[in-house]
Amino acid sequence: MSGQYGYAGSILRVDLSARKITTVPTIDYADRFLGGRGIAAKIYWDEVAPEVKALEPENRLIFMTGPLAGVSPGVGAVRWLVCGKSPVTTPEQFSYCNLGGSWGTELKYAGYDGVVVHGKSDKPVYIFIEDGKVEIRDASILCGRNTLETREMLKKKLGGRVRVVAIGLAGEHLSAIATILADNDASGSSGFAAVMGSKNLKAIAVKGSGRVANAGREKLIELNRQFREMRKTSPEQSIWGAGVTPAKKKLDICRGCNLGCERLVYENKAGRKGKFICGQVNFYTGRAARYYGEQDWQEVPFDAAMLANDYGIDVFAIGPMLTWLSRCHRAGVLTDENTGIPLSKMGSLEFMEILLNKISLREGFGDVLADGITRAAGLVGQGTETFITDYLSKGEQATAYDPRYFITTGLLCAMEPRMPIQQLHEISRLFIGWFQWAGKSGRPYLSTDVCRVVAKRFWGTELAFDLSTYEGKALTAVNIQNREYVKECLILCDWAWPILTVEFSDDHIGDPSLESKILSATVGKEIDEAGLSRIGERVVNLQRALTAREAGGSDTIADFHFTMPQKNDFLNPSGSAPGKDGEIIDREGAMLDRKKFEEMKREFYQLRGWDATSGLQTRAKLEDLNLKDIADVLEQRGLVV
Ligand code: SF4
Repeated sequence: MSGQYGYAGSILRVDLSARKITTVPTIDYADRFLGGRGIAAKIYWDEVAPEVKALEPENRLIFMTGPLAGVSPGVGAVRWLVCGKSPVTTPEQFSYCNLGGSWGTELKYAGYDGVVVHGKSDKPVYIFIEDGKVEIRDASILCGRNTLETREMLKKKLGGRVRVVAIGLAGEHLSAIATILADNDASGSSGFAAVMGSKNLKAIAVKGSGRVANAGREKLIELNRQFREMRKTSPEQSIWGAGVTPAKKKLDICRGCNLGCERLVYENKAGRKGKFICGQVNFYTGRAARYYGEQDWQEVPFDAAMLANDYGIDVFAIGPMLTWLSRCHRAGVLTDENTGIPLSKMGSLEFMEILLNKISLREGFGDVLADGITRAAGLVGQGTETFITDYLSKGEQATAYDPRYFITTGLLCAMEPRMPIQQLHEISRLFIGWFQWAGKSGRPYLSTDVCRVVAKRFWGTELAFDLSTYEGKALTAVNIQNREYVKECLILCDWAWPILTVEFSDDHIGDPSLESKILSATVGKEIDEAGLSRIGERVVNLQRALTAREAGGSDTIADFHFTMPQKNDFLNPSGSAPGKDGEIIDREGAMLDRKKFEEMKREFYQLRGWDATSGLQTRAKLEDLNLKDIADVLEQRGLVV
């Protein structure tokens, strides 16, 4: 126990080159950066020089929890994240991924708020952490095995209670689209499995029997009650996997959360169990349905997702890859013969087995695909570069919550190294509720009037909910970023937070102050909504400094958003949208206006206190946010005004 409420007290540091294990006090970082993304970004800022490549030993892989994990039960606060330089970003830069399950809580119970791994082992190893004891152990026997087998072997050796985060063959072979996989099939993207592979680190196994104290048990019980009351909804069917799921399913609850959400575990007829949700459901369902037609195909999407998990490959990168491969195949550039992959059988399980296997082993054409389709298109040439220019967004993922419709999401994406999915969810969730109201389906309480009040309360302006104009979008983006960065520091679950709306209340307006109340009760230090938002702003600025140092940047998004009309959005096929004064307008076929987008960006820079023309941060703003040390470093590089 650290004596500091909310935190385990130490961050573990493992130098694999020197085989040296040390710790630093979490408090060294927590005062200014709170936890999670904030602390990880500061460690990275201090330790990873901009010139370091993602797969070089000097890159850091930082596993972080937040001050609520395992301490404030039942409020969706048990998630953890991984940060470091990502091999899948262009250019390579600081990035992040966020995972659920039980590994993060276990780490805190083992005595650590985070683990910073650097260096490179001269042979394959895994790290074993048990109640303050840490060992670097030989992993030769685990090499060449996929994630699930690795997990099972370590559980057998170390005891079933051990929690494991591991890489599969894709990570071992340094694929930039490789994912790490932890217990409860929690997976993390940004190519960090390749970073683990580059360090010869196969897994981190954790076992903890300690506890971390909170400062206000009674208060937390009351806040938990309020939180659950606000989250109550009418019974609804899961939106995931309707009609395609294997026979059995049950809720999968992350350790210490108890909320229950859309996170489900499925079991197929063969008895194979696994998490099946969101992109895992979507990435192969349509193709399997088309390929198998009348045949029994319902388990194929599940089996394909389980294969991707096992190899440790990002399904969000495979989805766009299938589009590119299909177009190359139709154009006659890629064939079954010249790739050794049965492209003509796309949609079948056989195709997916061969594709994932070849990518993971970098075998034949799999080597061309292993770092994603941007690189693959460059290698293949013959015009295939144009087959990705109408849908591919950042980090090898397809565009989502399309900026052509939402406008604000364009700004949010432009400022980040990868698709900032939590930020996109914050705004799109309110609109999705409104689609149901406007279409007279689902939960009908999110009327235009309610949504406008919610927009004003959470994002500072009703114009956030008016898609007829670019006005108000910069302010909306600033407020969403601040809140979502706080969420990533605490680390609160995206399924549950923020509480924007309440179904069973008179005004249906959610509570943006709940996060600060829960934090205050946990750590025993009063912090209000504005104070928490300021921490979010500080971490936004820290990450902005990282981006400036590593990527320079024009803060833009893929060109097609400005040149090609959006069509048939699956969330809102009608294209209807809220306009001025509650009028319903049609945004089907919308595109972003480049001039207005640039004006919106300048307004965003101004609201952030940055230079309105260049987007460079200002010393005044950084010092105001208690980031003088960051300003000093930026100044040496001419990156602050
Ligand atoms: S709400 Fe769901 S995904 Fe989020 S922490 Fe709880 S159980 Fe996990």
